[in-house]
Amino acid sequence: MIACTVCGTQNDEFAVICVSCKSFLQMKVDNLNLFETLWSLMETPRAAFRRIALARHKNYVILLSCLLGIAIVYSVIWFKTLGARFADFAVLVGAGILLGPFAGLLFTFLFSLVVHRVGRLLGGTGSYRNVRAAIVYALVPIVYSLVLVFPIEIAIFGPYFFSDNPPPLVINPVAYIVLLGFDGAAIVWSLVLLIEGTVVVNGFSRGKAAVLAAIIVSLTSLAVYGLRFA
Ligand SMILES: [Zn+2]
Repeated sequence: MIACTVCGTQNDEFAVICVSCKSFLQMKVDNLNLFETLWSLMETPRAAFRRIALARHKNYVILLSCLLGIAIVYSVIWFKTLGARFADFAVLVGAGILLGPFAGLLFTFLFSLVVHRVGRLLGGTGSYRNVRAAIVYALVPIVYSLVLVFPIEIAIFGPYFFSDNPPPLVINPVAYIVLLGFDGAAIVWSLVLLIEGTVVVNGFSRGKAAVLAAIIVSLTSLAVYGLRFA
C-alpha cells in the first residue's frame, strides 16, 4: 500500500493517481531497458521488481519466456536421457530451438496463472500481468545458464550430455559436477528472485511469500517426480 501525501488515503502499491483525491502519487515507467533491468535484478532485486511492476510495457517478457522454454526443453531431454532417441545431434539441438519458444510461452502462462491465483488466495494484490512479468524476470538466471553454461556442456560432452551410454558423469566427472553445480546455482538464484518478485508485486510480507514459495517448490517437485515416470 502507498499512502497519499495529500489526503492520507491508502492506495494500491503501484497506483499512479490517488483513488480519493486524484493527487499524483508516483511516476509510471514507460519501457524496461533489458540490460538495466538485468543489472538491477542482481544489485537491487526489490527495486528492479518495483520498476517491472510500474512499467507500462512489460518489455522482453515474451523473448525471455521463449529463451526459458529452450532451456526447459533441453533440461527435459537431459533429465529423461533422451539423447539416443534423436537421429542426429543437430536434430536434438533444433528440437530445443523450435519447440522451446512454444514450451516457454505455455509454461510461463500456466505457471503465472497458478502463482497469481494462489497469491490472491493469500491476499495478494498483484495483477496477472505483473505476476507474469515478475516470474519471467525472476527466472532469468536459468536463461543465463542456457546462454553461458549450456554451450560449455555441449562443447565438452556433445550428444553424450543427453545420454546414459556412457553417462556424462563417467566421461568427465569433474566438468560434469562443476557444470551441473552452476545450473543448480542458477535454479536457487531464480527461486530467491521468485520470492522477492512475488513479495513486491503482491505487497506480501516475507512470511506469506515463504508460504507461496513452499507451494511453488512442492508443485515443481511433484512435476519433476511425475516426469521421472512419464
Ligand atoms: Zn489523496
